[in-house]
Amino acid sequence: MRKTIIAGNWKMNKTCSETKEFFTKLLPLVKGLDRNVIVGVPFTSLQTAVDMTKGSIIKIAAENMNPKESGAYTGEVSPLMLTDLGVEYVILGHSERRAYYHETDAFINEKVKSALKHGLKPILCIGEKLEEREKGITKDVVKEQIVEGLKGLSSDEMLNVVIAYEPIWAIGTGKTATPEMAQEVHKFIRNLLESLYSKEVANEVTIQYGGSMKPSNVVDLLAQEDIDGGLIGGASLDPESFIELIKAGK
Ligand code: PEP
Repeated sequence: MRKTIIAGNWKMNKTCSETKEFFTKLLPLVKGLDRNVIVGVPFTSLQTAVDMTKGSIIKIAAENMNPKESGAYTGEVSPLMLTDLGVEYVILGHSERRAYYHETDAFINEKVKSALKHGLKPILCIGEKLEEREKGITKDVVKEQIVEGLKGLSSDEMLNVVIAYEPIWAIGTGKTATPEMAQEVHKFIRNLLESLYSKEVANEVTIQYGGSMKPSNVVDLLAQEDIDGGLIGGASLDPESFIELIKAGK
């Protein structure tokens, strides 16, 4: 059975001291819970987050990564640097990176392959812009991002990938896709994975929803057959709202 995973994406938020404060509040709240939880934190908070969450249900993700192991890439962070810290997941292809840093599907695919080669599990983000939804080309956009982003991956590698479907118009806007709208795209993605890999692989892959997920809408979204958790920005910054989402993610 595939896992339901609740993952936070802090983006460029929280200093190291704020990271300590956050986990000091969250850790007692998750004690004894049987859930799959990931928190994506800025590079500067990774070591603190990994150290503080050791032995708990919380796994830590980086929010980006350069595909190369080392070299003259000023300001970049490599997969070796992440695994050396004990990081297990890496968020790749987030729409903010695609939009502001011009990341292409080909470059994201390089990162996905490099992450897997180094034992990191990628959370591959995909999703359409508002104008693409309005033009009726959501499925074409999502298909291209999946086909290109996963190019060259074996079935075994695919089992270590998490997909996050994030309609861009719903990220940070307070607008959520209705559960039915999200389910339609999630089902499409699962069918696509079946045609690219197999029914078994498609049934095992976790497909998260992302886009203004919060305590008030999480239950209805997770009730959909193909929605296996969430990638959450705003509501993951506060331990009190994040724990509501974690608890909903059974
Ligand atoms: C995100 O950062 O991926 C996200 C979905 O943000 P928010 O939950 O704030 O819409």
